[in-house]
Amino acid sequence: MRIHCPLCGARDRREFSYKGAALVRPLAAAEPEAWHAYVNLRENPAGPLAELWYHEMGCGSWLQVTRDTVNHSVLEVVLARDTALGAGA
Ligand SMILES: [Zn+2]
Repeated sequence: MRIHCPLCGARDRREFSYKGAALVRPLAAAEPEAWHAYVNLRENPAGPLAELWYHEMGCGSWLQVTRDTVNHSVLEVVLARDTALGAGA
């Protein structure tokens, strides 16, 4: 599988670390149920899923990768800072 880093170009997936589903972290004062859902509950769809990847052996960017879990095709790659994930950073 190859991932097209917006800054480095197409690279082998072994340059990246998978960090899980791309979920927006609850606010610090959020209810425990919101934190429970964020930490423990995961969707497991057959189809497109937004994931968080780190370009560990490249530019060090956090990426939101939309990947089809059925055939592992990469549908979209954007810098996480340009998504809702980076809105609070
Ligand atoms: Zn990169």
